Amino acid sequence: MHYRALGRSGLRISALSFGAWVTFGEQLDVAAAHRCMKAAFEAGVNFFDNAEVYAGGAAETIMGDVLQKAGWKRSDLVISTKIFWGGKGPNDVGLSRKHIVEGVDAALRRLRLDYVDLVFCHRPDFHTPLVETVRAMSHVVDRGRALYWGTSEWTAEQIRAAYEIACRERLIPPTMEQPQYNMFTRERVEKEYLRLYDQIGLGTTVWSPLASGLLTGKYVDGIPAGSRLGLENWAWLRERMQGRGDWERRLGQVKQLRSLAAEIGVTLPQLALAWCLKNPHVSTVITGASRPEQVVENMKAIDAVEKLSREILDRIEEVLENRPTPEEDFRKLFD
Ligand code: NDP
Repeated sequence: MHYRALGRSGLRISALSFGAWVTFGEQLDVAAAHRCMKAAFEAGVNFFDNAEVYAGGAAETIMGDVLQKAGWKRSDLVISTKIFWGGKGPNDVGLSRKHIVEGVDAALRRLRLDYVDLVFCHRPDFHTPLVETVRAMSHVVDRGRALYWGTSEWTAEQIRAAYEIACRERLIPPTMEQPQYNMFTRERVEKEYLRLYDQIGLGTTVWSPLASGLLTGKYVDGIPAGSRLGLENWAWLRERMQGRGDWERRLGQVKQLRSLAAEIGVTLPQLALAWCLKNPHVSTVITGASRPEQVVENMKAIDAVEKLSREILDRIEEVLENRPTPEEDFRKLFD
């Protein structure tokens, strides 16, 4: 495993990490989650991602049980939660001071921890003044309930505004963002956030690196029973992915990428994960798995990174045809 800095913070985070979305509490009980987390931990993963909303809180309870059973040293772990959707009551959602403080406390009780390392604002909240959210997150860190705070799926403009409020008010600024990033979803990480990496030292913990399994090749011949897109509760995800109008095109691209992966002696999931790891602005790639064998396969992506030569990367671009256009450097016009 390699360890990367989380942006400009002093924290070192495993380049591949492991998250609980969809799986914990839905596909995996405590014993099965334990097997997956153990496989990840033994491969060197130190970061385990969670959220108050995953399985209505059950994902945190399960992770807490696993942490108790496994008995790993707390300082060897980086644990996160994300706050936004905490329940049905009017004060159980969003990023008010009340929900942030109560939401983090409830997550800590479920995880049975004194603190989480990372806490994210799971989405932007257009109904709460940003200064209230920044003060509350800073307060949570000041109280030692979390060590670093950040955002998830915020625009560059929202992140910068939060950062500037924190600097102006002498509060603790956000240091990380959790965006989606994979071969099919690139714009934010590769273009929109570009200035934030240098200017505010933003780190990224990227999600759905396999596009919910599409980039494993498992959907090329239909939807296998037991796979994520076949789960009854997740029909909305299947409909969203298949209803985009480019599903068939993507399946065709997946087939080409699978051949390319075979050519360099890796599996398609390994190629897709290694491709994310090639981006130096990615601090960690959060993987997901419904069984330990997937974890074992995915962790080998670390060794696939060096196989992604310039030539292979160019051939991937030829298949994807979605490289974000770089901003024009107008001075270059007269060079
Ligand atoms: P992926 O896109 O990598 O999808 C993971 C799923 O793909 C697995 O659960 C499994 O599903 C399948 N899969 C994984 N590896 C293999 C393999 N080697 N062979 C075959 N199938 C495989 O990641 P996730 O979408 O799960 O996201 C990862 C994490 O990111 C989450 O757990 C969560 O922590 C975080 N996240 C954050 C979000 C945010 O808004 N901040 C949103 C979403 C995720 P199956 O076997 O069931 O088909």
